[in-house]
Amino acid sequence: MTQTSTDDPTILSQPDKSKISANPQISIVVPMFNEAENLRPLVAELIPVLEGCTDSFEIVFVDDGSHDGTMDILRAVHATDPRISAVSFSRNFGKEVAIAAGLDHARGDAVVIMDADLQHPPELIASFIKLWKEGYQNVYGIRNDREGYSPMRRVLTEKFYNLFAMFGEIRLPPGAGDFRLLDRKAVSALRAMGERARFSKGLYAWVGFRSIGIPFTSAERAFGNSKFSYGSLTRFALDGLMSFTVVPLRMWTFIGMFVSMASLVLAAYYLIRTATYGVDVPGYASLIVSILFFAGIQIFSLGVLGEYVGRIFAEVKRRPLYLVAERIGIEGDNDTPLP
Ligand code: UDP
Ligand code: MG
Repeated sequence: MTQTSTDDPTILSQPDKSKISANPQISIVVPMFNEAENLRPLVAELIPVLEGCTDSFEIVFVDDGSHDGTMDILRAVHATDPRISAVSFSRNFGKEVAIAAGLDHARGDAVVIMDADLQHPPELIASFIKLWKEGYQNVYGIRNDREGYSPMRRVLTEKFYNLFAMFGEIRLPPGAGDFRLLDRKAVSALRAMGERARFSKGLYAWVGFRSIGIPFTSAERAFGNSKFSYGSLTRFALDGLMSFTVVPLRMWTFIGMFVSMASLVLAAYYLIRTATYGVDVPGYASLIVSILFFAGIQIFSLGVLGEYVGRIFAEVKRRPLYLVAERIGIEGDNDTPLP
């Protein structure tokens, strides 16, 4: 009796075990949160592309606390193709952390990061690898359009990137996202950045290296819905802005200076007016308005301060970035993150 099931789309070719290298040329890192239904279609598309453009590769799936049986499928997929490995978290830690874990576990000379929902076309990886072989160390996909996203999300995303362009300390290439190839040097640099609030798009740009973008049209999500709510996108946007700019803190210095100067001018005006026309008592409206206005400004500025203090608090606790629940096909202690 043969064990091979013919309806399993992942069994495209039985890999030659001798091809499995301890140091593959290319690693693919895929963060996954409840993507069970996308897993097999993705593998089925990825394997032929990779076999066509490299001798040795591995695919590292990071299961970000899924509860839809993703790990069971990963176990089955690993059994049929040992070039596929996986690491799972003890709970959902978020996509940014899942990417960090993928980079920690990937062994390739170059690492490609991509989404699990087939919005990132696997064919583009061949072009990434070609440019990498030409000497580029940070090859990113540039999304032509935000296909498959609601108009509201598109507008808000655009506003966020405009804000970032205005205040961020680094320049983000327009349209560049997580779909990219990173040379080992860039991966090592990213792994050395111990920050907890990880805004990957900013970090990729921060590490620099020889970079180039390739345009692509992002497809519709294959199965399921986006794993990001407006709430989590807002938190992500705040994290991104606050880890790459101190402008929200600094602006209060200038606002404070402006208000103090304006109040000096006002004081001079009242002095002259009182000296000329004598004392007049009315002024309840202007008084209450200015009290409320400045109380508002003070609470708001305290809030901004609080945002930064909260982030400092998260950083100084030095908690591990993620906790591993299980590793499939990856050497290592199952309980702790790799050093
Ligand atoms: N993802 C993740 N953890 C999360 C949310 C998302 O690993 O907490 C993964 C998700 O499974 C997918 C990728 O990140 O592979 C992009 O997510 P999604 O497609 O939902 O984002 P969108 O395309 O809406 O920006
Ligand atoms: Mg998506």
